[in-house]
Amino acid sequence: MNMTFKKILICAVCAVSLTGCGKRSISSVEEIYSDRNVFAMDTFMTIRAYGDNADEALKSAEEKIKYLESIFSVTIEESDIYKINNSHGSTVEISPETAEILVEAVKMCGKTDGTLDITLYPVLNSWGFTSDNFRIPDTKEITELLEYVDYSKISVDGIRVTIPEGFQLDLGALAKGYTSDAVADVLRENGVESAVINLGGNVRTLGKKPDGSLWKIAVRDPFDTENDMCVLETGEISVVTSGNYERYIEGDDGQRYWHILDPSDGFPADNGLVSVTVIGESGLYCDALSTALFVMGEDRAVEFWRKNQDFDMILVTDSHEIMYTSGVENSFENLTEMSAEVIDSD
Ligand code: ADP
Ligand code: MG
Repeated sequence: MNMTFKKILICAVCAVSLTGCGKRSISSVEEIYSDRNVFAMDTFMTIRAYGDNADEALKSAEEKIKYLESIFSVTIEESDIYKINNSHGSTVEISPETAEILVEAVKMCGKTDGTLDITLYPVLNSWGFTSDNFRIPDTKEITELLEYVDYSKISVDGIRVTIPEGFQLDLGALAKGYTSDAVADVLRENGVESAVINLGGNVRTLGKKPDGSLWKIAVRDPFDTENDMCVLETGEISVVTSGNYERYIEGDDGQRYWHILDPSDGFPADNGLVSVTVIGESGLYCDALSTALFVMGEDRAVEFWRKNQDFDMILVTDSHEIMYTSGVENSFENLTEMSAEVIDSD
């Protein structure tokens, strides 16, 4: 099918306090900070680090991001993932970081009952989300490709990985979360105690603000993406949003097709949610969950949260309702006309 399409990229979460770029500034007498902008993983990233060693630390952080991109990318031909995807069923050796993210990713696929599945790549590819050659595949084609989707067939033994012939991996659902944690570690190793790492829809803070006050992190309104839906006041935390307004394509049929697919049928996940924000300690955990809970839809997401309760979440439904868990109740400021309800823990 020949289609014209529109691809729209919007940053879902942003640290409201971030302005300026690449310069060294003094915002008050004791608050020396530096900003660094990086484009990697198809995302505009901004990192602000405070303190005397901020410049050096940010240089190391950028190197780390570029390195992780070079091993996690599905398209860079020397990457670990590219090697695995072209292994035709044979075992390949990868770097420790790729082994680490794969072990965690497979765990999260199991924990989320396959709503997250990092073997979805053949299906994502057939939609053209990975190449910008968008098309709507027919159901028969998708059904055939789903034969090659099953995270439980991934075998990781130390740094040796094997996947069956025809299978292909994509870490897009959680690579930025892992990267935000890695950047936080690099900054801390370089003496930074206070920073905001903003990797598109992934925000990770380090410590508190230098004056001891809390960060303010804004989450976009999915129905009015120029504006914020809410502001969270928080200390060291990860805040990750997945939404159907982040990256989507409008077909000639006027329908929107977005980049988060439901592995149960290979079509864009359409289970009543337009945005899911996950708040927790680990960037990787929050990133993996934001994608999985979006696929689950409201009821299953609430059930999943009640069972685990080791994170907080803000759901926005397609009927314009906000629902959030009690952990963010005191730090949550609703900036919209939408109703906002707390989710009970039982
Ligand atoms: P983004 O990284 O665009 O902010 P997500 O973290 O939700 O958004 O990840 C979406 C990406 O994950 C897609 O671009 C695609 O590469 C991949 N993906 C889409 N659906 C799934 C899924 N159900 N399980 C695993 N990966 C997925
Ligand atoms: Mg994600």
